[in-house]
Amino acid sequence: MAATLRGATVMIPIHTDQAAASPFVARIGRDGAGTVERDGRELAPIALVKAPRFYALSTKDGIPYPKIALLHGADVLASTVLQTCIRYTERDKACTFCAIGQSLAAGRTTAKKTPEQLGEVAEAAARLDGVRHVTLTTGTPRSPDRGAAHLADCARGIKARVDLPVQAQCEPPDDFAWFERMRAAGVDSLGMHLEAVEDEVRAAAMPGKAEVSVARYFEAFEAAVRVFGRGQVSTYLIAGLGDAPSSLLDASERLIAMGVYPFLVPLVPIPGTPAADRAPPSGDFMRALYAHIGPLLARAGLRSNDVKAGCARCGACSGLSGFEAEGRAAAPPDTGAAWTITSESSDDASVQLPACADAGHVSRVPPLAPGHLLRRARAV
Ligand code: SF4
Repeated sequence: MAATLRGATVMIPIHTDQAAASPFVARIGRDGAGTVERDGRELAPIALVKAPRFYALSTKDGIPYPKIALLHGADVLASTVLQTCIRYTERDKACTFCAIGQSLAAGRTTAKKTPEQLGEVAEAAARLDGVRHVTLTTGTPRSPDRGAAHLADCARGIKARVDLPVQAQCEPPDDFAWFERMRAAGVDSLGMHLEAVEDEVRAAAMPGKAEVSVARYFEAFEAAVRVFGRGQVSTYLIAGLGDAPSSLLDASERLIAMGVYPFLVPLVPIPGTPAADRAPPSGDFMRALYAHIGPLLARAGLRSNDVKAGCARCGACSGLSGFEAEGRAAAPPDTGAAWTITSESSDDASVQLPACADAGHVSRVPPLAPGHLLRRARAV
């Protein structure tokens, strides 16, 4: 769920096992506002993001709008345009953290969204709920474009109905000419997600996707920055999959130098996935990484506010944007014991959230984390 804390909108995983162990409690009134507490002490006001009005509508072909796209954060429309993935269907190739098939199996979404459906929903979301940008992600199809063609069609369908900036997210396509085609179709920003950076970690956490090498991603980043511009290309880095902090920092520095925004998020272990029992990174772990990367971003002029659309602009799944301040970057963290992710390294910053609507009733609603929601934008 999305909530606003001290002016920042954050996505809060509430259905993970780790959420149940969080020491943080949210007492929320019927108006959706309340306070976050720990050990009985009030820490901050909190307000839930209201359910958007476009959720009550259906497409001309009778599909409820929330099966096509969802509100993310405060003002982002997010859709998984293709809800199937060649990686996911082979269990020994699937990304261990991914739940792309769960919402489809549960009937909460459709397998393929059309450009017309997305245009219709985006227009209504902008008009009724003040949506300001769009994130389109995709499962990976077998075709060599890796979904770029359908993403381009969907961006075109949205731009035909409403003038909203669009981010597309896919694996690197075989032919980098797809970047120009996506740009021409109305894609404003592009995400290609490394997720992890060390070869062994990638092979273990995402055996299918790891077949596309880190080197290939960097070739794609270079080509994409030439088309979309500095700061309009981004990549997810998921802390907690096993990469050493030094590896995440090295990769981030290299990405920033070439104009790519490293969108660093903590792992959110999703029930039902192979990574469900993995401990998320601690708050200290995340804070130290953010404190190093944030100033580097600021000094390179890659601020999230300048990203036209998508996750880096939204920022609700990461604390990084809050660290984008000028100044000296913090010293790189040690790679010693303090950085070892263990089962004890529960997410201190990922705040747990027991909620209470009525006095005397405390229902344990799980963690309040700047954590990334069910496999990034794959929430539809
Ligand atoms: S950062 Fe991306 S995945 Fe997270 S809420 Fe925002 S748009 Fe959705």
